[in-house]
Amino acid sequence: MDIVILPALSDNYIYLARDPASGAVLVVDPAEAAPVTEALTARGWRLDAILNTHHHGDHIGGNAALKSRYGCPVVAFHGDRGRIPGIDIAVGEGSSYKFGSEMISVIETPGHTSGHIAFHLPATGALFCGDTLFSLGCGRLFEGSAAEMWASLCKLRALPEHTQIYCAHEYTLSNARFALSIEPENPDLRARAEAVRHLRDQGQPTLPSTLAQECATNPFLRADQPRVAAALDMTGAAAAEIFAEVRRRKDYF
Ligand code: ZN
Ligand code: FE
Repeated sequence: MDIVILPALSDNYIYLARDPASGAVLVVDPAEAAPVTEALTARGWRLDAILNTHHHGDHIGGNAALKSRYGCPVVAFHGDRGRIPGIDIAVGEGSSYKFGSEMISVIETPGHTSGHIAFHLPATGALFCGDTLFSLGCGRLFEGSAAEMWASLCKLRALPEHTQIYCAHEYTLSNARFALSIEPENPDLRARAEAVRHLRDQGQPTLPSTLAQECATNPFLRADQPRVAAALDMTGAAAAEIFAEVRRRKDYF
């Protein structure tokens, strides 16, 4: 699939993905409808599906307008029927959703919200992870425990390392400052922070990143690394507890 990045609201990204063989287009987390319809119209594309990672307004705000304009189905978590209006295709852990020539698989990733899901496109090598995994960060724990979020991140971490990571927000620069407070000497992190600063200076998105890059630099994915444990004076503690401490520090950073 070909992926288009659309900035929306203050720091959201909406993603379009188009199957070149069929011309079918899906949108992930339309925060608002206008940037989506503009991008589709400019390219002469139609819209064939709306995918939502979770129920927050900055991820579903454009659903109703897009659905009524294009008549396309909404694909979202079955447990969130009560708070994502108009779900047509309800999915959950292990669901596969065939879209054009791509088989999209659903991974439940509770923590930010209890019904958060991620969409993995193995043939494209892309992951739409909403507000679960950010580049150099992770989502706030609104409806889940640290242990749940850690388990969700471990599921994502098990995907192929070349997987391209498409997060729903541009938080990378501020995340980099926090990550450096945990691992100031990590050479991969220092290089990534520098690259991110450069991209943002030029007004460019810092996404997608790759899973390999996140595993090397994202402190939330590195809670089971001895160096992170040592930096927090938590050597020997369980990874979920170290993760919880990293998350707590970020909340007050
Ligand atoms: Zn959210
Ligand atoms: Fe969000």
